[in-house]
Amino acid sequence: MRFDIITIFPGFFAGALDYGIPRRARAAGLVEFEAHDLRGFTHDRHKTVDDRPFGGGEGMVLKVEPIYDAFTSLGVAEKSMRDTAKETVILLSAQGRPFTQTVAQELAAMERVVMICGRYEGVDERVSEMLCDREISIGDYVLSGGELAAAVIVDAVVRLLPGALGNPDSSRFESFGAEDGGAAGPEDGPPRSTYGSGGLLDYPHYTRPAEFRGVSIPEPLLGGNHEAIRQWRRRMSLKKTLANRPDLLNKIAISEEDREILDELRFEPDTEA
Ligand code: SAM
Repeated sequence: MRFDIITIFPGFFAGALDYGIPRRARAAGLVEFEAHDLRGFTHDRHKTVDDRPFGGGEGMVLKVEPIYDAFTSLGVAEKSMRDTAKETVILLSAQGRPFTQTVAQELAAMERVVMICGRYEGVDERVSEMLCDREISIGDYVLSGGELAAAVIVDAVVRLLPGALGNPDSSRFESFGAEDGGAAGPEDGPPRSTYGSGGLLDYPHYTRPAEFRGVSIPEPLLGGNHEAIRQWRRRMSLKKTLANRPDLLNKIAISEEDREILDELRFEPDTEA
């Protein structure tokens, strides 16, 4: 898989993606990423990438010509000819569709992802219209530029590539993980809450020591009773989801066992929902 990132700050990615799993995945040849300097595609003495907005208003807007030239240099198919199951062009934008684990799984199945990072007030809208398949936002807040968003997307996608994690099961048991580990698309229906994290938030984790400054780990984790551990983890996943992200419960098919646990949790005094 390959990521191409068009940016005015190519040096940013040398730091952001040079640690942990992205670094190892790159060294193992699972993924390539390259940041392309937008200023290298300008034709004036000042390497101008931005200009004032038509219609007036605050700030500057990234110009369409250098982005178009940077894009063309990558040899990616024109929008109308593109096989979007294999390659996609993304504009990072606060106005985009939300980036989720499902989108990460979709991107992890691609051969090539091109990302265009905005700056200032944003990007000339013709970039989106002429070049991009989608606009993606990493959250409901405004960043100074698309670089952090692009790095977030690369990180989330790379760890889903086969061979990127030491234990391939890790990603299927994490928060938002679906029953099939994420390989399947939406046609397989919603994640079921009977296996893996089933679309819920992850349960709490503990490691040694079993007691720290008088605070002990939960009793079920001390014994080797696998069924008791499973039940405790499931309950804690449901509890965290109910407290922090109750919206996720509407997106999954809930088993009878989970429904009973949720009913109990709703009456527990410390569950905020
Ligand atoms: N005027 C824009 C608006 O109100 O939506 C904000 C522009 S922002 C200061 C500059 C650039 O940062 C954007 O063009 C985009 O590339 C990036 N950006 C800002 N927030 C983002 C977010 N939540 N997700 C992804 N990219 C974002």
